[in-house]
Amino acid sequence: MLDWLIIGGGIHGTYLSLYLTRRRRIPADQVRVLDPHPQPLALWQHFTANTGMSYLRSPHAHNLHYDPFSLITFTRTNDGQPLADFIEPYGRPSLQLFNTHSQTLIERYHLDELRLLGRATGLHRLAEGWQVATNNGTLEARNVILAFSNTERPYWPDWARTAQAEGANIHHLFDPAFTRATSPGHTLVVGGGITAAQTATALALESSGSVTLLMRHPPRIHQFDSDLGWITHQHLDGFYQDADYARRRHLIRTARHRGSMPPDVVRELEAAVQHGILDQRIDEVKAVRYQHGKLYLTLESGDTLTTDRIILATGFETSRPGGAWLDAAIKAYGLPVAEDGFPIVDQRLCWSEGLFVSGSLAELEIGPVARNFIGVKLAAERIGAGL
Ligand SMILES: Cc1cc2nc3c(=O)[nH]c(=O)nc-3n(C[C@H](O)[C@H](O)[C@H](O)COP(=O)(O)OP(=O)(O)OC[C@H]3O[C@@H](n4cnc5c(N)ncnc54)[C@H](O)[C@@H]3O)c2cc1C
Repeated sequence: MLDWLIIGGGIHGTYLSLYLTRRRRIPADQVRVLDPHPQPLALWQHFTANTGMSYLRSPHAHNLHYDPFSLITFTRTNDGQPLADFIEPYGRPSLQLFNTHSQTLIERYHLDELRLLGRATGLHRLAEGWQVATNNGTLEARNVILAFSNTERPYWPDWARTAQAEGANIHHLFDPAFTRATSPGHTLVVGGGITAAQTATALALESSGSVTLLMRHPPRIHQFDSDLGWITHQHLDGFYQDADYARRRHLIRTARHRGSMPPDVVRELEAAVQHGILDQRIDEVKAVRYQHGKLYLTLESGDTLTTDRIILATGFETSRPGGAWLDAAIKAYGLPVAEDGFPIVDQRLCWSEGLFVSGSLAELEIGPVARNFIGVKLAAERIGAGL
C-alpha cells in the first residue's frame, strides 16, 4: 500500500508530488501520481500553446517549486540565463521560461518516475486508507489527494453544440484533441477573457484580416483573476471566519474577475484592432445556421456574421469536477458537500480520513485562488501541516 496517491498529474498534482517528496521528505517509493497523460503538465502545455500566449498572468514566485525564488534562481544558471524574460508589473515570466523551469524540476527530482498512467474511476474505503479503481487496475494508498479541476470539461454554449453536431468547423480551444493552426478562410474567436484576446491576437498576426473576436462585453481590465488580498489575511480572514458555505461561494463568485485580462493583453488587442488586422465585435450570438461549409451567425444586435471556422475560448464548466465516480463515493461514504455540491473539508483540506483535496475541490476552504498555481501552494502547506 502506498503512503500517498495523488489523482491528477497536472500543475497541482505535479507540484504536490515535489512538495511531498522533497519538502516533507516522504520516500519517493511511497508517493505516486495517477494521470492519463504520459507526461506531466500535458494539458497545461497543450492549452497554453493553443492560446499563443507569451507571458503568464502570474508572478514568477508562483512557480512549480515550493521555493518561491526557484524560478529567479534558475535564470541565474547557464541553462536559465538565456531564457530570462519577464513582463512587468509583478515580474511575470515568459511561458517558455516557466515551462523550461518546470521541466528542469521534473528532471532534477525525477518526478516523471512517480507517475502511473491511468484514470481514476472509483474510490472505495479500506480499513487503513483508500482503494482507487482505475482503467488500469486498482491502487491502494493510506492517503489520497484529489488534485484535478475542470480542465477536461471545456464549456460549450448550446448553440455551439448544435452547430458542431451538424458538422460545422467549430472547436473549443481547450479540447485536448484540438490544435490551433491557421486554416483557410475566416476564423471567429468567441470569448470575453484573456484567453480569447490572446488567441485572437495571435491568429490575427498569423493571418491578418481574416479573424474576428466576438466578446459579450468590452475588455474587463484586471491584473489578476482575483485581487491579491485573496492570498493574504486582507480578505482571507473574513472568508475563514464565515462558516456559511453559501456565503463563501458568493464571496468566491464575486471575487473572481471572470472574463478579465491584464492591461498588457488589452494593449496588444487594441493594437491589433487599430492596425486593422483584427476585427473586434462586442455582441452576442443569438442564432447560428450551418450551410455548405459556412457558419451564418445572427447576433443580439441584429448584425450578421459569416465565418468558416469558430474557436470557442469560453473557459471550463463550473460545476464540481469528478463526475459519476466521485458522486458515487460521496454517496457511499457520506462525504460532506455544500449546497453547490463542492466538498466541505477541514483546515487541512481533509474531506474524510486519508482523503484530501486540491484545486477547485478545495475552493470552499482555500478561496477564489484555489484553482490557480498559488492555490496549490496554499493547499500543499495545509495538507503538509500534519506531516
Ligand atoms: C491558457 C491558460 C493560462 C493560464 N494561466 C495561468 C496563470 O498564469 N496563473 C495561474 O495561476 N493559473 C493559470 N491558469 C489556470 C491554470 O491552468 C490552472 O491554475 C492549473 O493548470 C490547474 O492545474 P490543475 O492541476 O488543476 O489542472 P491540469 O494542469 O489541467 O491537470 C489536471 C490533470 O488531472 C487529470 N485528471 C483529471 N481527471 C482525472 C482522473 N479521474 N484520474 C486521473 N487523472 C485525472 C487531467 O487529465 C490532467 O492531466 C491558466 C489556465 C489556462 C487554460
